[in-house]
Amino acid sequence: MKLERTHKIFNPPVRTLMGPGPSDIHPRVSAALAKPVIGHLDPEFSNLMEDIKDLLRYAFQTKNDVTFPVSAPGSMGMEICFANLVEPGDKVIICRNGVFGNRMEENVKRMRGEAVMVDDEWGRAVDPQKLEEALKANPDAKIVAFVHAETSTGASSDGKTLAALAKQYGCLTIVDTVTSLGGSELRVDEWGLSAVYSGSQKCLSAPPGISPVTFSADAIEKIKNRKTPVQSWFGDINLVLSYWTGSGKRSYHHTAPVNAMYSLHEALLMLAEEGIEKAWQRHKDHHLQLKQGLENLGMQFIVPEAERLSQLNAVTIPEDKNEMKIRSGLLQKYNLEIGAGLGPLAGKIWRIGLMGHSCNQKNVTLCTEALADLLQNA
Ligand code: PLP
Repeated sequence: MKLERTHKIFNPPVRTLMGPGPSDIHPRVSAALAKPVIGHLDPEFSNLMEDIKDLLRYAFQTKNDVTFPVSAPGSMGMEICFANLVEPGDKVIICRNGVFGNRMEENVKRMRGEAVMVDDEWGRAVDPQKLEEALKANPDAKIVAFVHAETSTGASSDGKTLAALAKQYGCLTIVDTVTSLGGSELRVDEWGLSAVYSGSQKCLSAPPGISPVTFSADAIEKIKNRKTPVQSWFGDINLVLSYWTGSGKRSYHHTAPVNAMYSLHEALLMLAEEGIEKAWQRHKDHHLQLKQGLENLGMQFIVPEAERLSQLNAVTIPEDKNEMKIRSGLLQKYNLEIGAGLGPLAGKIWRIGLMGHSCNQKNVTLCTEALADLLQNA
């Protein structure tokens, strides 16, 4: 049998990533990827795993013992939270204000739970009042799930208030922080969040493919008391923990992506060096600069100011402009990636990311100047 295509070494173009993720990675993080592979049960790797857990606890602002990076993308972090916490018949209230709420619903159904959907407009934060009404109407609900930073619209929800309400009505929470971790205020312990998942490729600025998760003691108790086994073998926390708990006691579960873990470690180290609160502030500062530039070009944010994410700027496309032509012009002429709208917002908005290492003054200037050029000349 012959190869069907002609092959050569792959050299990716050097882009500036200002879409909804992945974001640019720092040279220190890419250098970490190229370090020599060692065995995943090597004592040196075990030490690194302990460091990663500690750095993740800092990023999540938690003391949760069960905090580790899942060897798979954010979608698997999501699935692991639902697979472990939802038992057949469990009622889960899902606050949906964008694409990722749909995926939560799909997860609950596949775990044979009952999903109660609480819908908010796309482009708005989750409304705590609607959640409270749903909690009152469903006293048998066990879990509340919501997306802290909705990447499909750029809306930020009030994680603290939503979690407090869930707790008041005796529910645990599953919280999607894929786009918020490292980019906007997130305090897992102070807000009392139960099961939280994220992704490596957004504001942490590590390569895609790893999903940090953290589980509170309450969440672990529910998992330990399950009457039915977790339906996912790979995602069963009881099994994965034998791999991620204290060095010396570790046993084989799967082979971690060793070099991806080096790079995640380096990215988390850089976040700790900067300081988490300073990183949140940097995202805010550059968002305000970008906002000014985009508004000067006639674009409008679809999310009201108080509910806006700094790291995901969703703006309308000026009328009479060809969205696809301008976006591909940015890629071809400026090597600059921005994101298109999803679902009902497809063709109507651009999603401009300012995430992690991509969130800097140089990129704000590049993006506004490149857009000004193409809006005028394309
Ligand atoms: N949740 C949110 C809010 C996201 O933005 C994404 C990815 O963009 C995901 C979940 C899924 O993450 P991944 O693409 O890494 O599987």
